[in-house]
Amino acid sequence: MALEDDLNTDLRVLESHLDSMLDSVRHNSTTLKRFQAFERRLLDLNSLSEMIGYVLHDGKAFFDLDVISFCLVEQEGPLTDYLAEDGFDVNGIKELILLKDKHLLKSTFGFVVKPYIGAYKHARCADFFSHADKKPVSVAIIPLIRRGKFLGSLNFGSFHSNRFANTMATDFIEHMVSVVSTCLENNLNFEMMRRTSFIDTLTGVNNRRFLEQRLAEEIDRNQRNGEALGCLFLDIDFFKVINDTYGHQAGDHVLVIVAATIKKCLRNNDVLARYGGEEFVALLSGLDETMLQTIAERIRASVQALDIEWDGQRIQVTLSIGTATYAPPAAVACATSEIAANLIEAADSALYRAKHKGRNRVESNGLIKADSAQKQRA
Ligand code: GH3
Ligand code: MG
Ligand code: MG
Repeated sequence: MALEDDLNTDLRVLESHLDSMLDSVRHNSTTLKRFQAFERRLLDLNSLSEMIGYVLHDGKAFFDLDVISFCLVEQEGPLTDYLAEDGFDVNGIKELILLKDKHLLKSTFGFVVKPYIGAYKHARCADFFSHADKKPVSVAIIPLIRRGKFLGSLNFGSFHSNRFANTMATDFIEHMVSVVSTCLENNLNFEMMRRTSFIDTLTGVNNRRFLEQRLAEEIDRNQRNGEALGCLFLDIDFFKVINDTYGHQAGDHVLVIVAATIKKCLRNNDVLARYGGEEFVALLSGLDETMLQTIAERIRASVQALDIEWDGQRIQVTLSIGTATYAPPAAVACATSEIAANLIEAADSALYRAKHKGRNRVESNGLIKADSAQKQRA
């Protein structure tokens, strides 16, 4: 009888061990699925801004964190510019920490480049969680590294001391972090490529390919929000004479200065592209015709006021500008490509008039209709 009791007790102990082992397997399997789902979605994202938004927002929910932050090293590219161009509010997102250099990461991780997992220690962790009103109790600060270079770090925090303990198995985290680092590197490379293939190498402003893409996007956006889209066609006057008089290199220098001068008169999110040789096109959203002409006039005057120095000589230059505005109709949606072509053609024909009337002036073709360009070539 005693033997039977003993066996029953042993069996109950074994059953309870088995239950807890099964719980642990279930827990691990759920965690693994979460990590995999997070990684799959991460691999599908196409831009740096999407990736940051996803990691900060969905990452926090996916891993059930109390605090999260994402450090990125600015040295790896002009991140602020990239993100601002995508309409990303860099300063408004306190969980995003842009580091000017790698100093913080180097001093945190030293040569042993492994995640720091354990209790929150002020000296080591404060910089990663300075945005959090309530500091976490346990943390995982995970370096993001590719090809031996620090790209940033991903920082998880919990209000529970046992959530991140230094005895924890780190396989899942390390795997996830290698995926995040690879995605980050891909996105940074992509952002860099996207920009260099859309930039005019001489002047540094955007090129015609970029203009064509952005023009379509701007028209679609303006059709949705009902805002007007203004277009300036700008062409340097008698540029051939500048080349003939001062040489081609001087001409190049003039192009660079004129492009920078036009850009200075525009807002950050306006588009400026070199359309061809000495021709530029600018797109300005949300302005009425009068405001558009005021800006065009300001650009014209700024270029006229330039006193460009080249090889001990002074070069003066002027610009003719044609303007046109597309105001989206309330109800009818028209083909984007047709509107784009009409808008450029209307601004170009206004420019043609400005040239015809004596150059160094602004001419407007006013509002264009969506379905027919105003062909006003004189
Ligand atoms: P208009 O007032 O009618 O616009 O006269 P223009 O001389 O400016 O116009 P035209 O189209 O006759 O000449 C444009 C010149 O711009 C001819 C071309 O050699 C020069 N050009 C085009 N691209 C470049 C460039 O990248 N660098 C330099 N230096 N010159 C260029
Ligand atoms: Mg010209
Ligand atoms: Mg020209």
